[in-house]
Amino acid sequence: MSKQLEDFSKWYIETIQKADLMDYTPVRGCIAFKPDGYEIWEHIQEEMDRRFKETGHRNAYFPMLIPESFFQKEKDHIEGFSPELPWVTEAAGEQLEERLALRPTSETMIGHLYSNWIKSYRDLPVLINQWANVFRWEKKTLPFIRTSEFLWQEGHTAHVDEADARQETMQMLDIYKEVVEQVLAIPVYDGQKTPSERFAGAVDTYSIEAMMKNGKAVQAGTSHYLGTKFAEAFNIKYLNKANQHEYVHTTSWGTSTRLIGSVIMVHGDEQGLVLPPRIAPTQVVLIPVGPWKKNPQIMEHLDEIFAALKAKGIRVRLDDSDQSPGYKFNEWELKGVPVRVELGPRDLENKQALLKARDEEEKRTVDLATIITAIEEELTTMQTRLLEKARQFREANAHTTIDTLPQLQQHIDTAKDNGTIPGWVLAGWCGEDACEEKVKEETKYTSRNIPFNPPTTKTTCIGCGNEAKHTVWFAQAY
Ligand code: AMP
Repeated sequence: MSKQLEDFSKWYIETIQKADLMDYTPVRGCIAFKPDGYEIWEHIQEEMDRRFKETGHRNAYFPMLIPESFFQKEKDHIEGFSPELPWVTEAAGEQLEERLALRPTSETMIGHLYSNWIKSYRDLPVLINQWANVFRWEKKTLPFIRTSEFLWQEGHTAHVDEADARQETMQMLDIYKEVVEQVLAIPVYDGQKTPSERFAGAVDTYSIEAMMKNGKAVQAGTSHYLGTKFAEAFNIKYLNKANQHEYVHTTSWGTSTRLIGSVIMVHGDEQGLVLPPRIAPTQVVLIPVGPWKKNPQIMEHLDEIFAALKAKGIRVRLDDSDQSPGYKFNEWELKGVPVRVELGPRDLENKQALLKARDEEEKRTVDLATIITAIEEELTTMQTRLLEKARQFREANAHTTIDTLPQLQQHIDTAKDNGTIPGWVLAGWCGEDACEEKVKEETKYTSRNIPFNPPTTKTTCIGCGNEAKHTVWFAQAY
C-alpha cells in the first residue's frame, strides 16, 4: 500500500482496488460497481429509504431521457447544467426531431408531470423520491467521489406554501446528517451554501460537508428550496381553499454513491479500507488457525459461532480456504471487515478465541462461552469509536483563528513545508462574490457552507477585511 499522506490519491485508488469495490470501463468516468462496492450502497440505501418512508415519502420512477425543450424552461437550470449534459441525437438509425438529454437530475421531467398531477390543495404535499442513475459529464473524475454516471436518490416534493416547503428542505437535511453520522460514522457540518455554490435553479441550497483524511472537503448531500421557480417554469398550479390558483413551492434533495468514496477517505488507514459495521458487506470474518484441519473441533465451534451470528442477522463469513492464516488476515483487512475472530487448538484448550477490530492495533482474547455477545458489543463500540475518531481528526484540522488572506496563505505554506494537512478554515465573509472568488484564486479554498452551528462567530471578511455578514467554512474540496 502507498503511504496515505504521501500520496493520498494513489492511496485512495489502491485501497479501492485492493478491496475490489469497482472497476474502470472504457467509458470515461463511468465505473462498474463490483458486489462489495454495490452492497455498501445497498446498506446506505436501506437506511435512507427507511427514513424517507417514515417521513411520508414514496418511491417512484421517471424516464432517463429528457427533451431539450424542458431544459430551456428554467434559465438558471439550463445555464448550470448545459456544460455537463450528454445527448441522444439518433435512434434506430434516424435523427431525432428533438435531442434528448441523459438526465443530470429530474426537476424538469418531474415538473412537467407534476403540472398534471397537482390540481387542488387536496393533492398536496406531493412527497416523492426516486432511486436512479444520473449523468453529469465531469471534466475531472475520481471513482465514487465524482463520476460521469452515478447512482443516487433524488427527492422531489411540492407544497402549498413556502413555510411547508422550507420545513421539508430542513427535515431532509437532518435525515442526511443523521444517516451520515450514525450509519457512515462521518461527522458533518450542516449549513447553507453561498449563492455562488447554489444548485442551478434553487432559491436556497443547504448541504452537509465532511472532512476527508487529507483535509479536503466533500459535499456529502444537498437539500434545495426551489421556491416557485420550477412551478412557474412548468406551470404547476393548484386551487387553494379560497378557490384561487396558486403556484406550488417545490424542494429537491440528493445524496449519491459519492458517500462510498467519503467513507473510504474518512476511515481508511495505512492498511487500506476500514468500514463502519453498519454498512460493511461482511461484518465479521471467522478464521481457523494453527493445525485446524487435524482438529475437527475447531470447525465445529466456528460453524456454531457462524450459525449463531447469522441467526442474529449479523453478516458473517467463515474463511476455510487453504490459504495461510497470515494471507487471510491481510485479505480481509484490505476488504475493511470490522471484526475478525481467530480460533486455533491452543485457544480452544483455553476455551477462548482471539478477536481483532479492524481499527485497533491489538487482538484481545474473549471467552467462547460469551463470544456472541462480545462480537455484538464490538460491532457497536467500533461504530461509535469510528465516529469519535473522525470527529477528533476534524477538530484537530478545522482552524478557527485564521482571519486574513495572508494568514491563510502562510498557513497553507507552513503545512506544505511540514508535510501536514492545511485542513479547513472558519472565516468571516462580507457576502460579496468577489471576496469568495479572491480566496479561491489565491488559495484554491472555496466556501463550503455557512454552518448552522459554527464553533465561533467571525466579525471581519477574509477577502476584504470589511464587516462579516456570515461565518463560513472554507476548504479545498473534491
Ligand atoms: P446536486 O443535485 O447537484 O445538489 O447533487 C446532489 C448530490 O449528488 C451532491 O450533494 C453530491 O453529493 C452528489 N454529486 C454531485 N455530482 C456528483 C458526481 N459527479 N459524482 C458523484 N456524486 C455527485
